[in-house]
Amino acid sequence: MEKHGILYLCPTPIGNLEDITLRALKILNEVDYIAAEDTRVTLKLLNHFNIKTPLISYHEHNKKSQGPRLISLLQEGKNIALVTDAGTPGISDPGEDLVKDAIKAGINIVPLPGAIAAICALVASGLSTERFVFEGFLPKKNQDRDRRLFELATEQRTIIFYEAPHRIIKTLKVLKDTFGNRKAAVAREMTKIHEEFARGTLEDLIQRFEEAKPKGEMVIVLEGAKQHINNERGPATLFEDELSLDQLKSKLKAMFEKNISKGYAKNQALRKAAKELGLSRNEAYRILTDEHGKEEDRET
Ligand code: SAM
Repeated sequence: MEKHGILYLCPTPIGNLEDITLRALKILNEVDYIAAEDTRVTLKLLNHFNIKTPLISYHEHNKKSQGPRLISLLQEGKNIALVTDAGTPGISDPGEDLVKDAIKAGINIVPLPGAIAAICALVASGLSTERFVFEGFLPKKNQDRDRRLFELATEQRTIIFYEAPHRIIKTLKVLKDTFGNRKAAVAREMTKIHEEFARGTLEDLIQRFEEAKPKGEMVIVLEGAKQHINNERGPATLFEDELSLDQLKSKLKAMFEKNISKGYAKNQALRKAAKELGLSRNEAYRILTDEHGKEEDRET
């Protein structure tokens, strides 16, 4: 039986070309093919290092047809390095599906360590690095995004998000409304000329980016919740139970009205109902006043 080739997962720099590793250069030179997200982007990198290995395109929109082709080549004994435009393949980039298919086909996967924006941002954030979670890009639709954020309401680990510059202010505002004025950091243009680490509270960061138009690539690192909300029916549980936002709203409204009828002032009634459901006061306010979903149509 023919010996299978190896699938190398090969990180590339996230800005500074000197961040390519010696091993990555060796592998990129030695493999039979390089599967690349955007062959034009990768060609620039290869030209810079005088690497002549043939390229095959593999991206989100052709992975259904190109995946089996790459697996066949691997089964024929060809070695392939998978790269994306920047950073580590499989992290908010194509790669996961090919890895799964390769494992199914009995192919050896060799991951190379290297550049990854999430970890660079985390370690420079000044926030806890002891325990963290990576959330990638938040969903674009307000309702999906809010649902994801509710799931994170009690998350105590440091949370890492990727975000585009045109959405950063809005996202920082949503994070502040949802989680309160927590500490956070925005890592911008890491390893490039305009590298910047903005650190402070979410309010400080909103102010920072409202002063000058945000540009470049960005990672948000957010402090985790201070302590676990001691409530079995916290947001995560609510969604596990498949409680829709409408159901949550009805429940919240009923609790709020009950508190009013007991003589609580409006704000106090809202805080109490929110706490009972494991939500922050701001989350509860937004759900009750139906602010979520309103801006969806304006989103890109
Ligand atoms: N696979 C990549 C990695 O390993 O980090 C991530 C690719 S994802 C499509 C691109 C996102 O990563 C950007 O929108 C930004 O959030 C983040 N990113 C990539 N390069 C960056 C940089 N130099 N500085 C800050 N963030 C960066």
